[in-house]
Amino acid sequence: ATPAEPAVKKAAPAAEGDYQGVWVFVEQMEGEAAPVSWELMGEGRKLADKLGVELAGVILGAQVEHLVPEAFAYGADKVYIIDDPVLARYRTEPYLHGLVKLIRQYRPEIVLMGATTLGRDLSGTVATELRTGLTADCTVLDINPETRLLEQTRPAFGGNIMATILCRTRRPQMATVRPRVMAMPPRQEGRSGQVIREELGLKEEEIQTKVLEYITAGAAGVYLDKAEIIVAGGRGVGAKNWPLLEELARVLGGTVGASRAAVEAGWASPAQQVGQTGYTVRPKVYFAVGISGAIQHLVGMQTSDTIVAINNDANAPIFKIADYGIVGDAAQILPALVENFKQQ
Ligand code: FAD
Repeated sequence: ATPAEPAVKKAAPAAEGDYQGVWVFVEQMEGEAAPVSWELMGEGRKLADKLGVELAGVILGAQVEHLVPEAFAYGADKVYIIDDPVLARYRTEPYLHGLVKLIRQYRPEIVLMGATTLGRDLSGTVATELRTGLTADCTVLDINPETRLLEQTRPAFGGNIMATILCRTRRPQMATVRPRVMAMPPRQEGRSGQVIREELGLKEEEIQTKVLEYITAGAAGVYLDKAEIIVAGGRGVGAKNWPLLEELARVLGGTVGASRAAVEAGWASPAQQVGQTGYTVRPKVYFAVGISGAIQHLVGMQTSDTIVAINNDANAPIFKIADYGIVGDAAQILPALVENFKQQ
């Protein structure tokens, strides 16, 4: 029998030398940039310097000109911008059209985006349209200046291993990184560079998606993302002691986070989950109470400035990454901490 023709014919691999430069997609909503864009700019700067190429910010939106100096301040050498009313609020179609148009015209070798709801949608469609690779949710990025291959490291097989993924033959190399995984670079006032303005070339009537209404999501998740103090509980806290955990968060002016086990038990909402399938957080202080420290939890909180672990098992893995550890029963330690902090 003759093998069936593949449904999709493979595109010829792109000549790698044709592509140059590191791009960071500057995600914005209503003109406000997502902080992950600037975190990626810091990371992009390191990659661009190792390769000896330019770092560019790519801005798509309506009335977003004010983001140009911001992109320079966070490290861009160059900015590509498409400012068009059609891009006022995110829709896949026009954003895909605009970004693909820029990539085809200017050929960057690396494109980085935030692993946000928007970034996840857009990166996947762009990579598919360009027939290139995409590594989602990277936690570490590096570059080999000789091969010019982006080393994209992310948890794989349910978080049991960290895999480094290479995109050998296609360009650009595309990766997404979750908010708060990379450090925010310092702002450098007064930097500037070349600005390249392009037209979108797509009219409203050509777009097949119409957005009828926007409904703002509950504040819990957003707040967890930005919280400076997180008091997170796991299975070890138990339903009975959960209010004690909430009390500690209140006294400290913090936010309650949770492991997946606690969310599955119904003590916390999915918007409070920290970890691989929840939020990535980077607060000043992270309390892990009755949380064992499974890798899927650690990837969401291990870059917190200070980690305080409370667990009745002295051998719990969470103690390996904790700055302070208290071995004991959460039922006794939580009220003691509440009393203590109330007095301060
Ligand atoms: P356990 O592992 O059961 O730990 C409970 C801890 O509490 C133990 O260390 C115990 O010693 C301690 N303890 C018990 N009693 C007390 C007490 N009285 N006082 C003090 N300590 C006590 N998990 C996440 O958290 N976030 C994710 O995003 C996530 N994503 C996942 C994705 C995949 C694909 C998979 C396979 C798993 C994922 N998980 C995630 C689940 C993860 O593997 C763990 O099962 C989970 O993190 C365990 O939660 P826990 O630490 O609360 O519970």
